[in-house]
Amino acid sequence: MQVLLVGAGLSGAVIGRRLAEAGHEVRIIDSRSHIGGNCYTERDTETGVMVHTYGPHIFHTDDAEVWAYVNAFTRFMPYENRVKTTSQGAVYSLPVNLHTINQFYGKTMRPDEARKFLEEQADTSIEEPQNFEEQALRFVGPDLYAAFFKGYTEKQWGCSPRELPASILKRLPVRFTYNDNYFFHKFQGMPENGYTPMIEAILDHENITISLETSFTPDMATEADHVFYAGPLDGYFDYQLGRLGYRTLDFEKFSDTGDYQGCAVMNYGDREVPWTRITEHKHFSPWEEHEGTVCYREYSRAANPEDIPYYPIRMVDEKALLGDYVKLAEASSGVTFVGRLGTYRYLDMDVTIREALDTAAAFLACQRTGTAMPAFLKPPL
Ligand code: UDP
Repeated sequence: MQVLLVGAGLSGAVIGRRLAEAGHEVRIIDSRSHIGGNCYTERDTETGVMVHTYGPHIFHTDDAEVWAYVNAFTRFMPYENRVKTTSQGAVYSLPVNLHTINQFYGKTMRPDEARKFLEEQADTSIEEPQNFEEQALRFVGPDLYAAFFKGYTEKQWGCSPRELPASILKRLPVRFTYNDNYFFHKFQGMPENGYTPMIEAILDHENITISLETSFTPDMATEADHVFYAGPLDGYFDYQLGRLGYRTLDFEKFSDTGDYQGCAVMNYGDREVPWTRITEHKHFSPWEEHEGTVCYREYSRAANPEDIPYYPIRMVDEKALLGDYVKLAEASSGVTFVGRLGTYRYLDMDVTIREALDTAAAFLACQRTGTAMPAFLKPPL
């Protein structure tokens, strides 16, 4: 069978590899001049620092199969993400943990004391938080919310946290220990030479051909037996119902010598500081040594049509439009929508790989049973 994959990021690479191994002829196209999608990394020519070109990507998962999968294609080095935040003239540790709480309130509380103390701060009249702000007020109270979440979230999403779903905050835990590892997953690491060689290795199969700087056109679909589309869902339908909203990021790159900030990620909680965070890329590869350093100041704003889409907004209006596009997609045949843009969801890398492996398995099962491959592995609403 001839299979066309649109997008040479993680979804395209993982699905393509599985189908190539099963004997299918796989063609992968990407409109960019490189593979890897937003996971793309490259060395800065001046300093030699490995740069996460489209912003920081830290691999973390509880999924042993996904961890084994990525480790089969590249060597992962131990890496734990320890994020700091600058707020109201001081530096604190994130996610909110016992150190953050004690530092913020100038106290020396033990875990149970801190738990009780935060319960006293929390707004217990909110029984079922309906939005991001209520979720924060219910679990950390007004002081920590104002210092660490309100300003950052307004900058990141460009709206009031009252308009955002509570689920966004659920990504961030509150810990009553001194564990300041940003992620709580069993497996965590960083590929020794960045993500690009890992994805190159996944794509390295005799049944795979790759065409870069090649945009998808509908006639390509007629030449293929099946299309896996990892581009924007609304883009596939030529935006005929309107555009799904995204936040895009602007990175202001600057170089220096030595160590600029002493950590990989420094968030900025104050609304008055226009950027959300600064990433210092050499700290993502702590096993390397470089005299120079490369940093990105990161700004978030609404994406215009020509911008790179990063975060799906998924508020009430977008969800209604998404529902309409899902109906269009489900009425189409011969195409399956995959990945962050294809399913309009904010996906971590490990989930993207898990879904790609499951999508490939579902496709192969459909081939065996002679059934039609659906438009989505699971509906993205
Ligand atoms: N967030 C916040 N303050 C921070 C970091 C995150 O309020 O210092 C909120 C913000 O709304 C963000 C969400 O928590 O969108 C999820 O944060 P995460 O670090 O997972 O975002 P990512 O690094 O994936 O952009």
